[in-house]
Amino acid sequence: MAKLNIDARSFLQIVKEFIKALGQARTYHIYKNWYCFFGILWGIPIPIVTISIDLYSSGLGLSVANINRIIVSHPFHLFFLLHPILFGIVFGAMGTVRHNKQQEIDEFENNLIAKNTELKRANKKLQELDTLKSNFLSMASHELRTPLTTVQGYITLLRNEKSGALNQLQKDCLKISEEEVDVLNNLIGDMLDLSKIETGGFKVNLTGVDMTGIVKKAISSLQLFADNQGVTLENDLQQILPAVLADKDRILQVVTNLIKNAIKFNRRGGKVHISSSYDEGNHKEIFCVSDTGIGIPADKLDKVFEKFYQVDSSENRKYGGCGLGLAVSESIITLHNGRIWVESEIGTGSKFFFELPTFETHKAGSRRT
Ligand code: ADP
Repeated sequence: MAKLNIDARSFLQIVKEFIKALGQARTYHIYKNWYCFFGILWGIPIPIVTISIDLYSSGLGLSVANINRIIVSHPFHLFFLLHPILFGIVFGAMGTVRHNKQQEIDEFENNLIAKNTELKRANKKLQELDTLKSNFLSMASHELRTPLTTVQGYITLLRNEKSGALNQLQKDCLKISEEEVDVLNNLIGDMLDLSKIETGGFKVNLTGVDMTGIVKKAISSLQLFADNQGVTLENDLQQILPAVLADKDRILQVVTNLIKNAIKFNRRGGKVHISSSYDEGNHKEIFCVSDTGIGIPADKLDKVFEKFYQVDSSENRKYGGCGLGLAVSESIITLHNGRIWVESEIGTGSKFFFELPTFETHKAGSRRT
């Protein structure tokens, strides 16, 4: 049998609602409130039955005079006579409680529908803004790249002294300009990648890739930057590693970005260490770029992979960048069927990991299918 489980609080609530209903006109309205009408009908047999029993047991016939006599001689019959009214009130109050509840539910439902409509409208607006942003990103990066290529070309021309000899100051100025153009180029590259990722136009060309070569290439392109920052780069990859299934250029982009961040968010005299390990269970090679830098607060660890997110986004922040590198890196690794994650401790440093399937496993899988 079903167990009726009413705790004291719910019982008190029911009593409160019942008392409130007793004060509402609807409770006593037999047309509006069918419960009241039904209660009266339910109560009518009680006086009829009790008076009939009394008439029968007293040996009296059915007449108004005899009924009056019975009522006068046994006044408790008045109480039975009131039963249709009492039942009408109790049932009526129950009907009102139900009505009130239904009204609350309707109101809640209407609120929910209104909120849902509002949410849909806001969502649509957000989607429109997102498309607008993607279009802007794509257009701005294309438009910026063309003049920048020209500027870069002229700087190279001048630096090669094709248009005449340069003095030391001019050389220094051109060197700085070239570095700044590089920064802009990288930024525009990230913006272009992001717009391609968002429009689904970002593709990877997967082949067997030797990661030792990729890491060496990334290190040599960043060595000067590391020297300037007073950071030591340590390559601890084994000389012979199993090839991974990857897009050579895109993986170079990820490794470069992770090492660059590890240098950028480091301190003078700090270290960046690159290592790898093999996950036998999943046949994946795991790469780790660890640093002895500023670290990332625990509650920001997931956020750093969001686009445009920077732990320090204040206007007077110390480090450059625009918060796109890790978002792009994560998309690249996802397209490789891999995973990227970070562990970090404030003041001690960060460890960025990413895993890639090995080329051999992929080949074996393709042979089986
Ligand atoms: P950017 O470096 O251009 O700001 P990223 O997407 O590469 O953009 O990184 C996002 C944010 O993650 C950085 O702004 C920084 O706050 C944090 N971050 C990334 N790498 C490191 C790291 N090695 N150490 C500390 N913080 C980091």
